[in-house]
Amino acid sequence: MFFEIIDKSLLGRIGRIYTKSGYFETPALFPVIKVDFNQDIISHIKKLNYRTIITNAYLLWKKLNKEVVDIHQYFNFSNVIMTDSGGYQVLKYKDIEITPKESLIYQFKIKSDIGVILDYPTGLSQDINFAKKSVILTLRRANYAKRFLKESDMIIVAPIQGGIFYSLLSKCALKMKEMGYEMFAIGSPTGLMERYRYKEVLQMILTVKKVLGNSKPIHLFGAGHPMFFPFIAALGIDTFDSAAYSLYARDNRYMTRTRTYKLDELSHLPCNCEICRRIDVETLKNMETNIRITLLEKHNLYVSLEEVKHIRLHIKEGTLWNYLEEKARVHPSLYEAFVFLKRNIDIIEEYDPITKVNVSGIFFFDPYSSLHPSVIGYHKRMLHNYVIGKGDIAIFLPFLKEKPFSRSSLMKIFKNKIIKSLNQELINKIRVIFVGYPFILIPYELSEVYPNSQWEGEIDSFPYRRYLHSFIKNIISKLELGKAILIVNKKYQRLFSTIENNLKNYKIEILKIFVEKNLSETIEKNRFFIEDFLKK
Ligand SMILES: [Zn+2]
Repeated sequence: MFFEIIDKSLLGRIGRIYTKSGYFETPALFPVIKVDFNQDIISHIKKLNYRTIITNAYLLWKKLNKEVVDIHQYFNFSNVIMTDSGGYQVLKYKDIEITPKESLIYQFKIKSDIGVILDYPTGLSQDINFAKKSVILTLRRANYAKRFLKESDMIIVAPIQGGIFYSLLSKCALKMKEMGYEMFAIGSPTGLMERYRYKEVLQMILTVKKVLGNSKPIHLFGAGHPMFFPFIAALGIDTFDSAAYSLYARDNRYMTRTRTYKLDELSHLPCNCEICRRIDVETLKNMETNIRITLLEKHNLYVSLEEVKHIRLHIKEGTLWNYLEEKARVHPSLYEAFVFLKRNIDIIEEYDPITKVNVSGIFFFDPYSSLHPSVIGYHKRMLHNYVIGKGDIAIFLPFLKEKPFSRSSLMKIFKNKIIKSLNQELINKIRVIFVGYPFILIPYELSEVYPNSQWEGEIDSFPYRRYLHSFIKNIISKLELGKAILIVNKKYQRLFSTIENNLKNYKIEILKIFVEKNLSETIEKNRFFIEDFLKK
């Protein structure tokens, strides 16, 4: 097995890919290195500890006039080198001189670690016939190349075409999977990236991911700016390449993890990398062009790798969703991308691991944070697995400040003042259920289970009303309660009345008490009412 998954969050994962030049950790960025490369940049890449680069085998073949070299020697880079086959050139110039077979053999000979079948990219074509043609040609080439799968020590990547014709993309992915390929790539999003059409890129990734599942790594060509990296990683892209570090530098643009500055507009260098701490912005602006480009490239490479490391950390912590939520505020297109992810939260939640060894808390910032994969997953499990006895009595209490709720001082008061005075048969029928946002309902016995006590943030509404109503309706119909006590506070009054209305639909007897000053006082004050109601 050349791919192993070490950790997961959402559809994203930390993994290891083993190649003949050693392994590397994913998600991994492959900076694009031109065949006319700058040795200074390669040295910098090594110094930054990039384990992976990508170059274009077709352009090398052309430059060297078909001469075979060992690319690790050629680039003076002993770690992992991926080669692209020239598909992009096909897209740009319609036709290229190399044949698919020649391209593949050449990649073997130059000792590429990860090679790509010469595909026929769909690009952003709106022409369905062209898109079909590109898929058919790419599949035909993959069908030829699959004979090398067993004997090759180069990982052969199957590029998936179809562009934004999603059903075509999906069919192409399925055929590639059936052919037995072990690594895949999603082609042609470059044009989408340039136009900030992030949502469509994510739609492409999700379409492919649904077909390919979890076990094989997926590469994304042309991942662009680092601010988008967390989004593609969250949908399960394991490796991706980008030439943005260099393209931006040539255009005098300075990257940060969240945006891009035109060098002319910068008053300070907001970074402390090797380059930025040694030079001030005015000196950089006045430098000779080629030197300036190299320095900007070096800084941009640093920032790009820094982002990848942050992504890995968030996957490890299980906080990738919160990270996306934060990143979504950086650019309207990223916000739109995040809204797209929310619309597909059901799929994302299915992949998101329920348990993690080192769990970090979830942050809820505002009501729109409520739609979190952990919340949705919890609701699904509640609906499927939570059972109580028929005719049991529910005591609905508002969410408490102390977590876990079951160990709060209020619960101690509750047990001492109320539960103690009841007989065992009655005690067995009592179910304490906490009410509040965003989890809506947390039964006492589940209040220590992840994620019910590992979260922070006060939320006073739930904007997805239809979702909320259907959850409450379904859970109440399932519980078959005998009686219910509602201890209603002002903050969750609206939520309590939704619960009350649903209880009334089943003609369940209700005792409703309003919290006046504070909860413990209210319980104390009303203990005889509560006891009477329970014993009745
Ligand atoms: Zn810097």
